[in-house]
Amino acid sequence: MRIDVLTLFPEMFTGFLSQSIIGKAIEKGAVQVNTVNFREYATNKHGTVDDYPYGGGGGMVLKPEPIFLAVEDLIAGQAVKPRIILMCPQGVPYTQRIAEQLAEEEHLIFICGHYEGYDERIRQHLVTDELSIGDYVLTGGELPAMVVMDSVIRLLPGVLGNEISAVTDSFSTGLLEHPHYTRPAEFRGWSVPDVLLSGHHGEIAKWRHRESLRRTWQRRPDLLQNRELSEQERAWLREWEEERGADSRQESDEA
Ligand code: SAM
Repeated sequence: MRIDVLTLFPEMFTGFLSQSIIGKAIEKGAVQVNTVNFREYATNKHGTVDDYPYGGGGGMVLKPEPIFLAVEDLIAGQAVKPRIILMCPQGVPYTQRIAEQLAEEEHLIFICGHYEGYDERIRQHLVTDELSIGDYVLTGGELPAMVVMDSVIRLLPGVLGNEISAVTDSFSTGLLEHPHYTRPAEFRGWSVPDVLLSGHHGEIAKWRHRESLRRTWQRRPDLLQNRELSEQERAWLREWEEERGADSRQESDEA
């Protein structure tokens, strides 16, 4: 995969691209990442990339010319237009499903904004996607682009040592992941569930599935709304609903 990132602050990516799993992915050649300072495409000698908004008001707006020129330079001679992703709080909320789709692409271009926003013609006539990493506003698109890049790169073949770990991650299965334990088996009187020490793979897999479902039901019931539940899953959910009902009846009796 090739990733190009348009940013006014390429140094922000130095640590991210050189460390840990992402640094190794680049070293191994699983992904090639190129940062482009679009100030270099400014059309005047002062390197101007932003200007006052038409109609007045506060904040500066990113001009269209440098961003269009930088993207056009990157895709010159390419028969297929790559995904050109604008990072912005008004975009589609980012999810693991989108990460999985983006991981199938050969070339991605990210555009990181700053200041008040972008000239609207960038949205209308240049980009293919607009992504938001959540309902809050950051000072720039660099951290959001890194969030998306990190979640995509870790899905590329050969990037994670143990590829299984991405398959069972929260959201990949449609559920939150089950709890984890490591040694010691007993810590300050708190024990690891017996089943995990049993060596019985079938029982361990069943326990993990059940706990994964339970955790999702407790913390993110919205994820279960469109899930096709198996007979076993429906039985577990009925059991927990009944327990919850009994608990709340007991609480109201005591009150
Ligand atoms: N005035 C804009 C608005 O209300 O939608 C916010 C601009 S924000 C201060 C500057 C830049 O940070 C955006 O253009 C975008 O690139 C990035 N940004 C901020 N929050 C973001 C989010 N939640 N997701 C993705 N990008 C974000």
